[in-house]
Amino acid sequence: MRRIILFSAAAAIILMAVYVVLFHASRREATFFPMGGIPFKVVAYDRTAFQFYKDMAAVKKSVAELELVFNRFNPESELARINREAAVRPFAMNPNMARIMAFSRKWQKESSGAFDPTVAPLVELWQGAGKTKQVPSEKMISAALSRVGLDKVSQAGVERIFFTHEGMSLDFGAIAKGFINDEIAELLKMRGVRRGVVDAAGNAIAFGDGQFQFGIQDPFAERGRLLGTVNVKASAVITSGNYERFVEINGKKYSHIIDPRTGRPVDNGLVSATVIGSSGADADALATALIVLGREKGIELLKRLEKFEAILVEGSAPDFEIWISASLVHKLQLNLGQVERIHEF
Ligand code: ADP
Ligand code: MG
Repeated sequence: MRRIILFSAAAAIILMAVYVVLFHASRREATFFPMGGIPFKVVAYDRTAFQFYKDMAAVKKSVAELELVFNRFNPESELARINREAAVRPFAMNPNMARIMAFSRKWQKESSGAFDPTVAPLVELWQGAGKTKQVPSEKMISAALSRVGLDKVSQAGVERIFFTHEGMSLDFGAIAKGFINDEIAELLKMRGVRRGVVDAAGNAIAFGDGQFQFGIQDPFAERGRLLGTVNVKASAVITSGNYERFVEINGKKYSHIIDPRTGRPVDNGLVSATVIGSSGADADALATALIVLGREKGIELLKRLEKFEAILVEGSAPDFEIWISASLVHKLQLNLGQVERIHEF
């Protein structure tokens, strides 16, 4: 009899523990590594372990599907097929591709050509230069430039595109992460997650009530060292920078972001641009456009658009300057002694 009582007590405790672990709603967090190893973190509030387990399965499936659309390095992807076929015959895009094209056209126009996903031939030219350690000649740059420009992608209706020049290709590297952030946030909301964060290596979106705190990477320090933090309501917070990815030729660093108007890697002193806005795709495209435009033209664009806030870092360590939207002043905590380096616009 005593054994039975002990046994039932133990069973009850185990059941309670299982219940607490599986069905207690609280903050959940998981990271996985899609897109060639990018840490992709998902945070959801008020979810049980079981709900979150299913959320993550849905997230992974959706990210894998989106990768199969936008990853131009996977020969099976829709983007790789477009790049192979769209100069031969009109290509019927899937709806997500058509949507990212629409975002891209909008931002190419808004940024006066600073953001342009047809920049791929130039990206390849400069990546090749990083390997051969030879700066491309004028002739090579102008040959690549003749295959760049969204005006050379003709479009019939919303979904059929055609490259008017041989050798053109599209690269959505500057907008796809933000677009995927938006998609995953929507997916989580549809699943009933009321508050959460999706963060793909510094490209983040937060949704739901209340405040969220994001770290702003210090562009002159190792990854994870912060310039400061920003407190925002639900929004996308996306950083584009010159500091992490570059090629080196004869000791000079060349950015992985190319100015599609000159055909050369950007070199205007702007080191990083963090954009805060309601959509990840918009914020991602705009962050890249700002890096290309530089501080002055970038601030002009931000002022004209009105709907976005930004943090711009210009110069080089130790003499850098920080430019922030006036509306961000009270939301930002900077780990910086010298206030004279901070400017608002
Ligand atoms: P990150 O690599 O930090 O996410 P971005 O969002 O700025 O930075 O995307 C940079 C990528 O976009 C490059 O690696 C390249 O593939 C592509 N790219 C480079 N220059 C441009 C440009 N001017 N417009 C659009 N895409 C670009
Ligand atoms: Mg970008």
